[in-house]
Amino acid sequence: MQNLLLLLLFLSFVGFAESAPVKKNYFCTKCFILIEKAGSPIGFNCRAGGHHSWFCLGECGDKIYRCRKCSLLLKSKNSPMAFHCQSGGHHNWQFLATFGENTYHCSKCDLLINSQEKPAVFYCPAGGHHNWKKY
Ligand SMILES: [Zn+2]
Ligand SMILES: [Zn+2]
Ligand SMILES: [Zn+2]
Repeated sequence: MQNLLLLLLFLSFVGFAESAPVKKNYFCTKCFILIEKAGSPIGFNCRAGGHHSWFCLGECGDKIYRCRKCSLLLKSKNSPMAFHCQSGGHHNWQFLATFGENTYHCSKCDLLINSQEKPAVFYCPAGGHHNWKKY
């Protein structure tokens, strides 16, 4: 409850009090699920046992990022926070594309992306470049 009050204070301070709540990417540092939520998510029922341990990766947005180490994919406003990579150490974020109406599929690593433009070709986890095909 105190966190919520602090958040509201912060929002009114920066002048966003009347706009819709900003969604953020929350990531559990124990079971590694990702959820998009405005305000702190609830902590119960972590698959790793006990409560989730949420870490905020930043505001949701229309830029698609993928971690080259743990393959986590998310939509973010800015470059996401680097801490707590599932593969250990820091995430290694790569900007892939801007979210949009087109669907691209890599025939090598099976990644599916909805984007405006053809996503970046570098660092396909299957090796070499992604082989994007537009649906
Ligand atoms: Zn969890
Ligand atoms: Zn990672
Ligand atoms: Zn690929």
